[in-house]
Amino acid sequence: LPIIRAQSSPGYTPEANFYKVEAILRPWRIQQVSSALLKMGIRGITVSDVRGFGAQGGSAERQAGSEFSEDNFVVKVKMEIVVSKDQVEEVIAKIIDQARTGEIGDGKIFVSPVADIIRVRTGERGEKAERMTGGRSDMFSVGSSTT
Ligand code: ATP
Ligand code: GLN
Repeated sequence: LPIIRAQSSPGYTPEANFYKVEAILRPWRIQQVSSALLKMGIRGITVSDVRGFGAQGGSAERQAGSEFSEDNFVVKVKMEIVVSKDQVEEVIAKIIDQARTGEIGDGKIFVSPVADIIRVRTGERGEKAERMTGGRSDMFSVGSSTT
């Protein structure tokens, strides 16, 4: 498949330090997507089993003029990843790279600003709460014991 680059959105982009990348994807691609994200230092991911319809409608295969009923929703997985602003584009690119088949029903990605992050265990907020052990800040930190 050709490499697809996400084009940048003109216009409305609410400013925030953190964003939620929410991807509705084919269930059988989730393992592949999450292991690729893990490799690039993403450590916090939430997934949910969901059902829905888009252009794919309620069918496993294309079907012109199909009607949608609740029974017809296609099983999908919703993946939510909250990251710092400068990680958003690489996360989107990785998801597209790993989830895309080129067929109808590959899914959609929604990006929204996140006002704050709080780690329940410690009460840390913001940047401190966003950082994960083994995450990018560990992988690329200068002077870390492993480099
Ligand atoms: P702790 O160090 O206390 O374990 P943590 O930051 O590692 O804190 P967890 O309590 O392990 O967070 O996270 C609980 C759940 O929250 C995870 O299983 C995951 O579903 C979700 N989660 C955590 N961080 C993120 C994130 N950045 N994006 C999306 N989901 C996340
Ligand atoms: N940006 C975080 C870090 O580098 C990881 C974020 C995440 O795993 N969702 O530690």
